[in-house]
Formats: sequence, C-alpha cells, structure tokens
Amino acid sequence: MPATIGVFALQGDVREHLHALTNLGAEAIGVRRPAELARCDGLIIPGGESTTMYKLARTFELFEPLRERIAEGMPTFGTCAGMIMLAGEVLDGTADQETLGGLDITVRRNAFGRQVDSFEGPVAFDGFADPVHAVFIRAPWVDRAGEGVEVLARVEQGPATGRIVAVREGHLMATSFHPEVSGDDRIHRYFVDIVEQS
Ligand code: GLN
Repeated sequence: MPATIGVFALQGDVREHLHALTNLGAEAIGVRRPAELARCDGLIIPGGESTTMYKLARTFELFEPLRERIAEGMPTFGTCAGMIMLAGEVLDGTADQETLGGLDITVRRNAFGRQVDSFEGPVAFDGFADPVHAVFIRAPWVDRAGEGVEVLARVEQGPATGRIVAVREGHLMATSFHPEVSGDDRIHRYFVDIVEQS
C-alpha cells in the first residue's frame, strides 16, 4: 500500500506538491478538514502566506488536529510559509501570528529583504550528490536552530551566505525554498522516505 500524504490545502501552492507526490507513487490528497487529515501518514504544508494559513486553519477547525498529529509524530514537511507554520518561534510575524510549532527553530519572515524578494540559485543539500536549484519567494530563513535540529542546507552566495534554509528534526523537515517548482523530485523523495520509514 502506498503511503497517503496530505497537502494542507486551505491556502498556498498545493497543486505542484500533489503532482510531485503522485509522481513518486504516493497517494496524495488535499487536506481541508480533519477527516482528510485523519487519513494521512504524512503531510506537506506548502508555500503561501503563513498569516492567512493559521487563520484559515483555525476557522476550519484544522489547527488543533494538525498540532496534535504533529506532536504525535506524523512526518510533516513545510516549505516557505510551511516552514514558518512548523517553527517554534517567528520573528517579524504579525502580533497575533500563531504557528503549529514542532521544530525547535526561530525563523525570520521575509528575511531576505525587499530588494531580494525572490531569487534562485544552487544550494548543496545534505546527502545529495549534486546541488538543488532553490527558488526563494519572500522566503524566511532560520535564525536559530536548536541542538536537536539537523541543518540540511545553507545559502551559498550573495548577502545571505551562510543562512540556514533547510532543516530536519526527527519526523519534521522544512525548507525556506520551493522544491515543488523546480521539477527536481529529490527533496520530495527524501520526505516520502521519512513517511515510509515511520
Ligand atoms: N512571506 C510568506 C509568509 O510569511 C511566505 C512566502 C512563501 O511561502 N512563498 O508566510
């Protein structure tokens, strides 16, 4: 039986993640309500707008179920806004911004600044033979990573050189960039492997 992997679908770029997962042989479903979440062995929280995501998750009564599943060990992968949703602490968030938490990291929203709203470039990813092509769109970076957090990638060029942009802590992982738009499925495969091994 293939793993069932959900994509949080109340807001954000859902479709590319569903495609990437389906291409890897997973059963991929959009998650808008608790009953859909209950079917999932793992979950991706996509890029989008984290301040809208948590509000919609509250409105659709998905926030607490998500928090519970994550705390119980459901493998979860957050990209960009999804990274913010999994962060224990957010800098430059809105005053009332809530996150699901789980990752012992502090992220800075829109960290790369206005001038470099969006940029792309090669990034070495831990364990991969060749760099990934990372696309950053109003992306956060990781300001602080706790002791149990593995750093998987850092920016390698420009003013943000050295900034942490991919992490893993047990069943949770997150990237500042958007692996779903590059047509390179290695990071999705890395996550599907975590789901299948759990
Ligand atoms: N800046 C957005 C946020 O704060 C994230 C941008 C993205 O996901 N592409 O949620």
